[in-house]
Amino acid sequence: MTRRLTVALLVLGLLAAACASSTDHATTNALAALGVQPTSTTAAPPGPSTTVPTCASPTASLAPQGALPAPGRMPAGSFMATIQARGYLKVGVDQTTLLFGYLNPADGQIEGFDIDMLRQVAKAIFGDDGQNENTRIRFTAITSAERIPFVQSGQVDIVADTMTINCQRDQLVDFSSVYYDAGQRILVPDTSPITNSSQLGGKKVCAAAGSTSIANVVDTGQTHASSPAIPVSVNNWTDCMVALQNGTVDAISTDDTILAGLAVQDPLTKVVGPKFTDEPYGMAINKSHPDFVRFVNELLAQERGDGTWAAIWTKWLSKVFGSTPPAPPAATYSG
Ligand code: GLU
Repeated sequence: MTRRLTVALLVLGLLAAACASSTDHATTNALAALGVQPTSTTAAPPGPSTTVPTCASPTASLAPQGALPAPGRMPAGSFMATIQARGYLKVGVDQTTLLFGYLNPADGQIEGFDIDMLRQVAKAIFGDDGQNENTRIRFTAITSAERIPFVQSGQVDIVADTMTINCQRDQLVDFSSVYYDAGQRILVPDTSPITNSSQLGGKKVCAAAGSTSIANVVDTGQTHASSPAIPVSVNNWTDCMVALQNGTVDAISTDDTILAGLAVQDPLTKVVGPKFTDEPYGMAINKSHPDFVRFVNELLAQERGDGTWAAIWTKWLSKVFGSTPPAPPAATYSG
C-alpha cells in the first residue's frame, strides 16, 4: 500500500472517529482525574509524572459465584436482568485500533479482539436468539480518555478497549479479571535510528490522552532525566500515526498490541525495543454492578478453559504475533 493510500485510510478513520466519538468535556474530566493536561498534536512541555496510588493487587477481581445463568434467563434483580430487559448491551470501544477495536471501512463493522470479547458477553446474556448479531449489542466509539467517565455515568455498561488495570483506575471503576497481557514498546519510521526507550530523550513521542502510555512517556524515569522525552498527546492512536507520517513526532509509544496494528497499516514503520511496562487489560464496569463483574469473570473463566479465548486470539493476533496462542492470563480474585 502506498503511503498516500495509507494516509487516506487513516484520514477516513479519523473522520469516522470524529463523528462517532464523544465530547471534549468528558475527555477533560477524565484527564483531570488522571492528573494529565489535555494537549493537542502540538508538543506538550514535559511535566512531572502523575502520582500513582499503590494498592495491594489491582488485577485481583471479584470471584465468580457459581455457574452462569442460562442465556435469556438472567436472575431477577441482577444488573444482567436489567440489560436483558433493555434488549441490548451498551459497550464502549475504540474504533481506530486495528486488531482490537476497528471500524472496518470495507463493511462498516467494528471488529477485533476486544469486540469479540464483548460479543461473548452479549451472547451469554441473550443467547443465540436468531437476532442479527448486532441487535443485542450497541457500540459507542470512545477515546482512551473517555473510558472511565462513560462507565461511571452509565452511558455504557462495559468497556473493552485495550484498557490497563491499575490502582488509580481501580478506585474509579471495577475491572474484570485480566483478559490480555500487553506491554509498552515504541513505533518509529523504518529509517529511524531509535532502537529502545532509553533513546527517546529530547524526542517528540506521541500517545493518546488519558492512556497509561502518555503517563509512561511523561515519566522521565523511562528516558533521560537530563533530556526527557517530549510527550505529544492526541485523542486516538491513528492521530499519532498521522503525526508520525507527517514528521510532527519522532515516535509513538504505547502497548505492543496497538503498535502491531499500526505497523500493519503503515509498512514503512517498525516496532522497536523490548516491552518496558506491563499493561494487563481488564473490562471496565461501573462500581455499582459487582454482580455483573462476577458474571463476566465466570464467562472469562469458561473462555480460558474451553478454547474460546485461544480461538479469538488466533483469529485476530496470529497474523502479527505468531501462530501459537499463548496461555490465557490467569485470573486472580480478592473477594
Ligand atoms: N493500555 C493503555 C491504557 O489503558 C493504552 C491503551 C489505550 O489507551 O487505548 O491506557
